[in-house]
Amino acid sequence: MNKPYQPQHDIVTLMKQFEQEVKESPELPDAATRLLRARLVFEEALEFVRACGCTVKSGAGASVIDEIAVELDADGAPDLVEYVDGCIDQLVVTYGALNAAGIEAQSAWDEVQRSNMSKAWPHCSVCDAVLERGSGSDLVHPGDSYAHGGSWQTILKVHKREDGKFIKAPTYSPANIRQVIEEQLEATRPLIAAR
Ligand SMILES: [Zn+2]
Repeated sequence: MNKPYQPQHDIVTLMKQFEQEVKESPELPDAATRLLRARLVFEEALEFVRACGCTVKSGAGASVIDEIAVELDADGAPDLVEYVDGCIDQLVVTYGALNAAGIEAQSAWDEVQRSNMSKAWPHCSVCDAVLERGSGSDLVHPGDSYAHGGSWQTILKVHKREDGKFIKAPTYSPANIRQVIEEQLEATRPLIAAR
């Protein structure tokens, strides 16, 4: 049973977990946030270009992917309307790219969200012990398999180094997109066979 596909709500959860500001009403973000967002969008766009087997070349013909830097423009004119338009256009082209590849977004999304959230450390809600990975993807309480009479819950916390950088939890696992694709192939095989 899949949980509802709610990508924007999932990212609110992710951003709050990792202490990023989520605004309650429309407002252009500050310069540092705009630069971070511009870099993230650009890096992801370039990784997608590479995944398509394509490259970006300068007029001189050299590949520029590893040379490009995204920076704040002192003469720039950041604009909330264009900001939103740019975000939605990216969603449009991203869903278009998924559709062009026959991928249903939800299960792939859920796997990426699961992986990103697994960077936070799972703790016991009662004694604060760090939980461990069980046989599968489930989390178990260290030491006693029936700790606190089984009445504990999982609380996610971030761990940071002294310089403020997040430390990934030992229970982190990267997104297994290959498995998601294989499951979608399996599920759609009868459809393809019936053609
Ligand atoms: Zn405990």
